[in-house]
Amino acid sequence: MAQSLFEVVKQSVTTKAVAEHYGIEVKRGGMAKCPFHPDQSPSLKLNDDYYYCFGCGATGDAIDFVARLFQISNKDAAEKIAADFGLQYDSHIPYVLPKRTATAVQIQKQRERYTYDVLVRYHRQLQEWLVMCAPDSPESDIDPRYVEAIHQKDYVEYLMDTFLTGSLEERTSLCSERNPNIRRIAHRLAQLTNENKTLSMESISR
Ligand SMILES: [Zn+2]
Repeated sequence: MAQSLFEVVKQSVTTKAVAEHYGIEVKRGGMAKCPFHPDQSPSLKLNDDYYYCFGCGATGDAIDFVARLFQISNKDAAEKIAADFGLQYDSHIPYVLPKRTATAVQIQKQRERYTYDVLVRYHRQLQEWLVMCAPDSPESDIDPRYVEAIHQKDYVEYLMDTFLTGSLEERTSLCSERNPNIRRIAHRLAQLTNENKTLSMESISR
């Protein structure tokens, strides 16, 4: 029996196979440098059904991967994969994505884990700064990290509250890859990690 484009692609290729096919070097354990953010070390994990980046939180299935890589629609990506891998399908069956596949549930779970991890890590950092970087006296210079902690802590707590007690819609929107607040915080965390790396490199070379 002939199958739809989506089914054929879904059953025939893994995210690892498409990544390799389009020039991504996949290391042991399915790890690769993420093509969706400036990645120094491999932080993209390619599972059979879905990929996930520990650095930028990008996630999806093989079709999403190709769509994002070439900046084309999911339908075009599925057609591209079918053509490039020589897959046969029934072109009369319309291209519709099944609503909640097991993969989609897994992807959503990964997004939630990532979002909460980003919030917790930033919150921990802010709390540390509130103590470590507090001015000794009213006359002393104010550490910018202390200012950041004062300004951001309540807001981050509000986002954590939304995550834990918000409605399904609020939580889904918070965990969406497009959420600007989570992106901004993740970006800030990456900046801090880089600063720390530079610092420890300096202390080694000294
Ligand atoms: Zn990434």
